[in-house]
Amino acid sequence: MGLIVQKYGGSSVADAEGMKRVANRIVAAKRDGNQVVVVVSAMGDTTDELIDLAKQITPIPSGRELDMLLTAGERISMALLAMAITNLGHEARSFTGSQAGVITTSAHGRARIIDVTPGRIQEALAEGAIAIVAGFQGISQDTKDVTTLGRGGSDTTAVALAAALEADVCEIYTDVTGVFSADPRIVPQARKLQSINFEEMLEMAGAGSKVLALRSVEFARNHNVPIQVRSSFTWEPGTWITSQ
Ligand code: ADP
Ligand code: ASP
Ligand code: MG
Repeated sequence: MGLIVQKYGGSSVADAEGMKRVANRIVAAKRDGNQVVVVVSAMGDTTDELIDLAKQITPIPSGRELDMLLTAGERISMALLAMAITNLGHEARSFTGSQAGVITTSAHGRARIIDVTPGRIQEALAEGAIAIVAGFQGISQDTKDVTTLGRGGSDTTAVALAAALEADVCEIYTDVTGVFSADPRIVPQARKLQSINFEEMLEMAGAGSKVLALRSVEFARNHNVPIQVRSSFTWEPGTWITSQ
């Protein structure tokens, strides 16, 4: 019995089938006796499409309104995923970043997490529910406006929540089976790493490898949150990222 934070990226929840597939995996983790918190990204290319839509209205949208628009992507995902889990006979409650207590700076489009106060998540878990949290978003401490954490920011939401909840592990589910020595889509002979430490992962993320957002790795190192990166499409073990 443990507390697991699972994050599913956009490619894992690209359509209704993907939502249902992911819901089954979440329920499996719950059936294993764990408390489960799920962080979810916008479906497929939703974020890019919303940016494109905004640009058709105005070349330079205001940061506040762009963040309000983009956070809708994750909100669609969280509600659909909660419905898919409910359909499988388990209780699921979705929460926006703000409801989940993700407090940030006011820098729209690149806000930093200042604090996480996940009282409502803990309440949901204590009542036996699966908590679903919209990734990539928070609320500014100063302005009380909705903010986003920068592209790929759902990774950071997941690690920050895992730290605040003192989770046993933060599992990042994506469309590759782990962290490779190079991007496996560009370098077919890249090898999958069984484990890697925070410093090495920071270097890879800093060099632009988008498998994990740089800030999520910084957060994991600073709070010593063990991460496992793995595929949501297979059951093979992924890559562990720890202090070792
Ligand atoms: P998600 O939508 O799940 O957040 P991303 O597209 O952000 O997924 O990240 C996964 C992608 O990262 C993979 O499809 C892969 O092409 C890319 N990638 C880049 N560098 C690496 C690496 N070293 N190991 C694994 N994947 C990598
Ligand atoms: N949906 C956001 C993005 O596309 C956040 C994320 O996927 O992590 O950047
Ligand atoms: Mg990503």
